[in-house]
Amino acid sequence: MEGRGQMSRQAALADRLERFIANKERMVREHPLRYLFWEATLRCNLACRHCGSDCRRDNSTRDRELSPEMMKRELATIASFHDPRRITLAIIGGEPLIRPDIEAVGAFAAGLGFAWGITTNAMLLDVERLASLKAAGLSTIAVSLDGPEDEHDALRQCNGAFRRVSEALARLVADPFYQSFDVICCVSTLNIDRLGPLLDHLAALGVPRLRLTPVFSRGRAGRQSGLMLSGDQYRRLLAFTAEARQSRRDIEVTLSEEGYWGPEWECRVRDDPHYCGSGTMIASILHDGGVTGCPSVSRRFVEGNIRATPFVDLWAEGFADFRAGRRAIAPPACGACEHWDLCEGGGFHLFAPEDGAASTCALRKIEDQGDRHDR
Ligand code: SF4
Ligand code: SF4
Repeated sequence: MEGRGQMSRQAALADRLERFIANKERMVREHPLRYLFWEATLRCNLACRHCGSDCRRDNSTRDRELSPEMMKRELATIASFHDPRRITLAIIGGEPLIRPDIEAVGAFAAGLGFAWGITTNAMLLDVERLASLKAAGLSTIAVSLDGPEDEHDALRQCNGAFRRVSEALARLVADPFYQSFDVICCVSTLNIDRLGPLLDHLAALGVPRLRLTPVFSRGRAGRQSGLMLSGDQYRRLLAFTAEARQSRRDIEVTLSEEGYWGPEWECRVRDDPHYCGSGTMIASILHDGGVTGCPSVSRRFVEGNIRATPFVDLWAEGFADFRAGRRAIAPPACGACEHWDLCEGGGFHLFAPEDGAASTCALRKIEDQGDRHDR
């Protein structure tokens, strides 16, 4: 009987994976826009050691930013070609709350039928700003917190940052006006051993969900930053996530982004197998009007600029690398890999690494023995 039960579980898993692969082919064919990131600014009020963006503490990039009117015009056009009720506008930075006008764009988007939200370091999320976001119809919010007090403040290079974020989280828990709220933790060598205390802190505050994202090599978090995880640390991150998902009832934990972790881990660390929707369901309008897949991908993959070409045209006719061309630009080792159909070379943000030569295979990182820092 046990043998038969195991076979039916295996058959169910095989069926699920077949449907998953077929669904990916449909996404390439239909590329239904679901997440539209707007990188409202590159300006930031912090200079975090692990930041993967090109953000600045000065105003040197301000002149290139899109005005609210330009974004509203673009959103109105997008809403006439795509069903806005199926699209989330995610406003990011830099630090989006630096701009006082994101509520105007968000409220306009909500009026068209988009859901809208922000990802923020919460340093400016005081009582007044939260009320303003609420009044503008904000529906999703993701807050960055990267460890207990010492680790968070060290990574953010700002004493008192942890306290400010924790106060904002408490406010969000006390007034759940949004549809979705979670905390994102960027996992690096500085906090890999402090995830337990972070999880306890968030659960005590009443935060519903923690998303763990491994640091990757881009921007300040370059390969020489000392922040990249070793193979052993990746394995510990996977084990921590799997264990927390099984044992915690007070807070949900999930591992997001990165690549395909293989059959042993995929179903234990997240709800669905790894899928990189960059360029098939996810697009970004960058601070200067550039258009690409998700905001984490290399700026080598910018498809055009809305100052010259409407977003809807770029989305309809561009994005060949993201959709049908991944095999051609994936690392050579992927060509003969038995996991290709499920993995497709991992997350697109790992393509075209700045130093070109390094391995980006998530599976190889955890299968290699010893401490390799070769991402
Ligand atoms: S070799 Fe490429 S396709 Fe295979 S698991 Fe690694 S990243 Fe994925
Ligand atoms: S490129 Fe990376 S961060 Fe972007 S959607 Fe794909 S896996 Fe996620």
